[in-house]
Amino acid sequence: MKHLTILGSTGSIGTQTLEVVRAYREEFCITALAAGSNVSLMEEQIREFHPKKAVMWTKEAARELKERVKDLSIEIGVGMEGLLEISTMPETDVVLTAIVGMIGIRPTIAAIESKKTIALANKETLVTAGHIIMPLAKKAGVSILPVDSEHSAIFQSMNGEKKEQVSKILLTASGGPFRGKTREELSGMTVEDALRHPNWSMGKKITIDSSTLVNKGLEVMEAKWLFDVGLDRIQVVVHPQSIIHSMVEYADGAIIAQLGTPDMKLPIQYALFYPDRLPMEGERVDFYALSQITFEKPDEDTFRGLKLAYRAAAAGGSMPTVYNAANEKAVALFLDRKIGFLQIPEIIEMSMEHHKVIEAPDVEQILAAEAETYDYIMQRMEL
Ligand code: NDP
Ligand code: MG
Repeated sequence: MKHLTILGSTGSIGTQTLEVVRAYREEFCITALAAGSNVSLMEEQIREFHPKKAVMWTKEAARELKERVKDLSIEIGVGMEGLLEISTMPETDVVLTAIVGMIGIRPTIAAIESKKTIALANKETLVTAGHIIMPLAKKAGVSILPVDSEHSAIFQSMNGEKKEQVSKILLTASGGPFRGKTREELSGMTVEDALRHPNWSMGKKITIDSSTLVNKGLEVMEAKWLFDVGLDRIQVVVHPQSIIHSMVEYADGAIIAQLGTPDMKLPIQYALFYPDRLPMEGERVDFYALSQITFEKPDEDTFRGLKLAYRAAAAGGSMPTVYNAANEKAVALFLDRKIGFLQIPEIIEMSMEHHKVIEAPDVEQILAAEAETYDYIMQRMEL
């Protein structure tokens, strides 16, 4: 039986993880759950999965939850302290990180130090603190199993292969809802337009990131850390049908890929049961019905988020944090209808140009760079 803690259980990845758990109820014990403020769904999850502890980010949410579940013997925690506590519980084997943003850094580090296996969805953690997380995991002998579909595909395509024989990672991208559009067309795009993803149903922030190609940019950095490959060996390929979830090319020219219908439950289940493959219901790829699969080069001049990501990754140190933080702030402003779609990459670029790189930043310096970036944007945008 696997003892699982889920950080971000009420979100898109969190709820799909619980669907996998529901399908294999006897294989799992949920030790703890954490969410931001969605008390109602957390209450439902507690009543269904009986965790020992649950954590809410805000005091008010924690207080309300405590009141709602006072008939149960469950401990309710709050904030970062609560997240750290449930990431290190002795009875937990696997911590699945599905919170959004850099909030995930400290709990992930704490979980690694407590020798938990990490099922990692929260890519921002690796983007900003990969230089801390990866050596720490190696030292602790802890596995970091990717949940992000592309990285799961790469991981699966590397099974049984020698890392030093990899010549290239081919990271596929759907291109998002605005693929093929010009800058002029993009300037008028609304929040509703950007939230309409053609293939994947995901949380709001990552859906916007898919429409700007920032998500792919973050994934390039995530791949760099997870698979220890140079940026010059990570190539983004637009593949609008999202059937090939990514590929790996080897020294002899052979390319190994993982294919499947777009369903996040597959990479989630693979991470939870690795190295086993268990039955999963759902649609299968029908090659007779699939009339074509196509490929394109990403339009990096129109979707500048990708180019800026390579630039941030090449600069290294604290620059990926600035890229990520500026994007988070810009996406929040876009969702609040305070800025236009094309201002998202502009804000990222402006923030990167302003920043002086700190080499190998520690967690405090990463969080400080995040806060400084937020402040800088608010001041520059006069908000
Ligand atoms: P959602 O916005 O759907 O869910 C986020 C979850 O985190 C919610 O449970 C939310 O709680 C919780 N949360 C937010 N802030 C806090 C906090 N401060 N403390 C505790 N919990 C918090 O996001 P997704 O599920 O889409 O994405 C999660 C992560 O996975 C991201 O890093 C994303 O990039 C990555 N990812 C997602 C994919 C997807 O298909 N969705 C694919 C690949 C990666 P509440 O509901 O209460 O707000
Ligand atoms: Mg992905």
